[in-house]
Amino acid sequence: MTVSGSWERAARGAMLLGDGGELSPTIFAEMSALATATGAINLGQGFPDDDGPPEVLAAARQAISDGINQYPPGLGMPDLRLAISEHQQRFYGLAVDPDTEVLVTAGATEALAATILALTEEGDQVVVFEPFYDAYGATAALARTELVTVPLPAPDFRPDLDALRDAVTDRTRLIIVNSPHNPTGTIFDRGTLELIVELAHRHDAIIVTDEVYEHLTFGVPHVPIATLPGARERTVSISSGGKTFSTTGWKIGWITAPHRLLAPIIAVKQYLTYVNGGPFQPAIAVGLRLPDSYFEGAATSLAHRCALLSGGLRSAGFEVLSPQAGYFVIADAAPLGITDGAEFCRQLPARAGVVGVPVTAFVREEHRDGYRSLIRFAFCKREDVLERAASQLATLR
Ligand code: PMP
Ligand code: GLN
Repeated sequence: MTVSGSWERAARGAMLLGDGGELSPTIFAEMSALATATGAINLGQGFPDDDGPPEVLAAARQAISDGINQYPPGLGMPDLRLAISEHQQRFYGLAVDPDTEVLVTAGATEALAATILALTEEGDQVVVFEPFYDAYGATAALARTELVTVPLPAPDFRPDLDALRDAVTDRTRLIIVNSPHNPTGTIFDRGTLELIVELAHRHDAIIVTDEVYEHLTFGVPHVPIATLPGARERTVSISSGGKTFSTTGWKIGWITAPHRLLAPIIAVKQYLTYVNGGPFQPAIAVGLRLPDSYFEGAATSLAHRCALLSGGLRSAGFEVLSPQAGYFVIADAAPLGITDGAEFCRQLPARAGVVGVPVTAFVREEHRDGYRSLIRFAFCKREDVLERAASQLATLR
């Protein structure tokens, strides 16, 4: 679809159109469409292909039967806000007031959008670690802010701390931290988190932390940045039930933040969706209160599937850059003679019946050297699907 005309060019949405004014789908939508069109195994978009915990699914069904089908309160249902507050205390020792410091959102995506729109002014700088999840750049552009990137170079995707020091200035309004990180699966170490807090203090910036993979870590603990000394009062913490409970389509996310930061975010959020997901809210509350064994089991099962797919990728000739967490593994296709990962991903359905996502999709055009042969594959899929993908990828050799 193409739009043209003077008013469209002036509009904010035009920033997200292609150079010719065409509507370009997100890389995830594009790759899922490619998988559907070719019948290839979809290791592109990060969604599980099995269901989440039965108690959580049953609670949603029950809520619908019980008539919980109208608008929930603007902040989210009180019991879900309480469950989020209990979760922060139980896993991280963070005391969060469920009535003034918690906001339920339409996924982490709306939480990010409302936060960026609420807390920035035109021309502010927003610091992100690159590669970065696509919504950060798009929403920062809609808010007419300037994105400043700190590189996470392959193969270990650790930020250069001097580059981080250079990136944060008095013009920085937000520092967006995504640990565990998509697409690299990196967990930021304590030293990096401490430096972020120190820089935020020095330059009076706000930390926005996207922790949607918080429970899906492989032997490395997740440390929320809000737990660091001096961080909590200037941190907006964002998470979502989609990844933890395998319910990505439900779009129940949340923010915990000091009320002073949350109030303007609530003001914006109420005009984005107002509210969402009535019957799913009590179900996610059930999920957040599941015993530790559920959370440990979800991480262990994913670690196993990561190992399964990684083994397949290695046998197929890729170099595997092992993640510490999350849904994805990055594989370097350079040993297979590949220099253009985006082109390789377009050919992969025909060559091996598999879809992956080029890591360059998470990197701005001018910074793509160093990432061109890297492909992100999702392992949040059933074991038989991953085994089939591995044997099909083996034909690439
Ligand atoms: N942040 C990151 C890093 C993600 O990978 C995703 C995708 N799930 C989101 C935010 C969006 O989360 P949600 O589906 O809850 O909107
Ligand atoms: N977070 C998912 C991923 O990285 C996709 C979400 C989306 O499609 N926007 O694959």
